[in-house]
Amino acid sequence: MDKLRVAILGATGLVGQRFVKLLADHPFFDIVALTASPKSAGKKYCEATKWMLGADFPDAVKELKILEARPEAIRKCGYNIDLIFSALPSSIAKEVEPLFAMEGFKVVSNASAMRMFDDVPLIVPEINPDHLNIIEIQMRKRRWKGFIVTSPNCSTSILTLSLKPILDYVGIEVVHVTTMQAVSGAGFSGVTSMAIIDNVIPFIAGEEEKIQTETLKILGTLSKDIIKHADIAISASCNRVCVLDGHLENVFVKLKRSVELEELKVILKRFKGLPQELKLPLAPSSPVIVRNEVDRPQPRLDRDEGGGMSVVVGRLRIGGDGWLKYVVLGNNVIRGAAGNAILIGELMVKMGLV
Ligand code: NAP
Repeated sequence: MDKLRVAILGATGLVGQRFVKLLADHPFFDIVALTASPKSAGKKYCEATKWMLGADFPDAVKELKILEARPEAIRKCGYNIDLIFSALPSSIAKEVEPLFAMEGFKVVSNASAMRMFDDVPLIVPEINPDHLNIIEIQMRKRRWKGFIVTSPNCSTSILTLSLKPILDYVGIEVVHVTTMQAVSGAGFSGVTSMAIIDNVIPFIAGEEEKIQTETLKILGTLSKDIIKHADIAISASCNRVCVLDGHLENVFVKLKRSVELEELKVILKRFKGLPQELKLPLAPSSPVIVRNEVDRPQPRLDRDEGGGMSVVVGRLRIGGDGWLKYVVLGNNVIRGAAGNAILIGELMVKMGLV
C-alpha cells in the first residue's frame, strides 16, 4: 500500500521524539510535517530539538522545518495529511485539537484534554478496539469533518493491560495501585534534577484522578453507542522517582472469586488482542510478560520488552487476605504514550478509519 502521510504535533518534546523515532521507518506512515511551540516554529527540526534518543536524528526529519500547531500552517505544508499524532501539552491540545478535527483532520492524541468526553474513544488497542465505533457519534454530534481519538495516561495504559486478562477471567471488585513514575513522564522540563536526584516526590498533579477515571472507561463496555464504565472501586497513589523511563506500579486486586496463582499466570501470558491477530507492525507478540524472579520487573532491565510495547508483571502472589498482589512495569513513553498512539493509528488503518 502507499504510505499514509502523517504530521506530529509537539514533535520536539519527549513523546514527540519517540513518535519521530518509531515512525522514521514505519511501513504504514511517512512523517511529512512537524510542529512545536511558536519559539521553535521556522527552525529546522535538528536545530529546535534537544535529541535525547541516542545516535543522530533520523534523516527523514532532520531538515524538516517546524510549523506552528495550527490547521492553516499544516495545510500549507504542501501535503494532504492522512493522520495527525499529537504530543501537545494538554492546555494547548484543548484549544488546538478540536480545531484540527473540525477542519477534517484525524487526530490521535496523547494529551489528557479530551480523554474523558463520552464521545471520545480512549483506546488501548488490545483491550477496547471496539470503542473506536463511537467516532461516528463524535463526528455527527460535533459536526466535525475529522475526529479525535485519545491514548491514555501513561500509568493507566500499563495498569489496564495487566488488569484486562484478570478482569475477563476472574472478575475484579477493587483495585489499589501505588505508582513509581519515571521523570520522563513529566515531559522535557517537568522535573528539575535538584528536585529528583536522591529523592522521591509523593505527588503528581492530576495523576491519581486520571488513573482512577481512565481505567474504568478503558475497561468499560460499549453498549448501544455508550461506553458503560467498569464497575470497579479503584484507588491510586502516585510517586515520582529518580528513573529516566519506565513506570513501576504495585497493584493490589480484590478478585471476584478465588483462583490458583499458576492459572492466573497462564491467563496473563496468553493474553492477546486484535493488534496481535492483525499482526500490526508495533504489536508486541506478548502484550503481558510474566517473570518469576523475586526481584523483577525493574525499569532498567525490563522497560524495552517487546520494543517498549509489552508490560512486565512480576511478584505475583495471593495474600492471606485473599487479595492478588503484583508489580507491573511499562515503558511510559512507548506503551504509555507514542507507541500506544501509533498502534491505535495502525489499527485504524486496518479498520478503514484512516
Ligand atoms: P514535553 O516534553 O514538554 O513536549 C511538549 C511539546 O509541545 C514540545 O514539542 C513543545 O515545543 C510543544 N509545545 C509547548 N508549548 C506549545 C504551544 N504553546 N504551542 C504548540 N506546541 C507547544 O511533553 P511530553 O512529555 O512530550 O508530553 C506531551 C503530551 O503527552 C502531554 O500532553 C503529556 O501529558 C502527554 N503524555 C506524556 C507522557 C510521558 O510519558 N511523557 C505519557 C502519556 C502522555 P517546544 O519544544 O518548542 O517547546
